[in-house]
Amino acid sequence: MDYEYSIVRTACKNMSIHISNRNVIVVHCPYSVSRAQIVAFVDSKSAWIEKVVERNAIRLAINDDVIEYRKIYVNGKLLPIIMADTNNFAPDAVYLKSLSAIERLFKEQFTEGLKETVYSLAKETLLHPANVSVKNYVGRWACCDAKNNLIFNYKMFMLRPQLQHYIIIHELCHTLCHNHSQAFWKLVSDYEPDWKMLRAELKNYDFLTSLYQNL
Ligand SMILES: [Zn+2]
Repeated sequence: MDYEYSIVRTACKNMSIHISNRNVIVVHCPYSVSRAQIVAFVDSKSAWIEKVVERNAIRLAINDDVIEYRKIYVNGKLLPIIMADTNNFAPDAVYLKSLSAIERLFKEQFTEGLKETVYSLAKETLLHPANVSVKNYVGRWACCDAKNNLIFNYKMFMLRPQLQHYIIIHELCHTLCHNHSQAFWKLVSDYEPDWKMLRAELKNYDFLTSLYQNL
């Protein structure tokens, strides 16, 4: 199988391959390696590349309407986007004056509810964040900083509620444990026993985090 890839030379020590969820393949390599070495390296990884590219292609095909901004997920429900003279969620569609309104609309509609959910789960779990806010992230769903401020990507409001719950629990657990150690995952499983399944499912929606930019 042939794939196109670009080569980025950096001060790194080893070669590595990155495949974006939109199937853009980039090979990172040190300045010293030859073209032949790069080709051999990519060849040695071809089975893995094919697997990832195929999985992405299937997901991209399924979500074609989302990627082309014809439809949008709202709490896990796929709704048509209808261009109108208002920005508004309806039960069966999302009405928009322009695509650039998406971020503000989601934040206005769902931020307060998210904060309520986070603080009620904080009470339940005794895991207390310093502060809760919502912003636009590319490539991640949320973040717990060193001061235990939880910052969530507004695109999480596109996911079904159980996935949102998993993201919240994950970040709350980071207030106690700032890494992904065994102890961390044990803590997550105490509050979300289905975390493994949800974590795998969430990967299918990672592409959403790189959409809705520069609209
Ligand atoms: Zn984490």
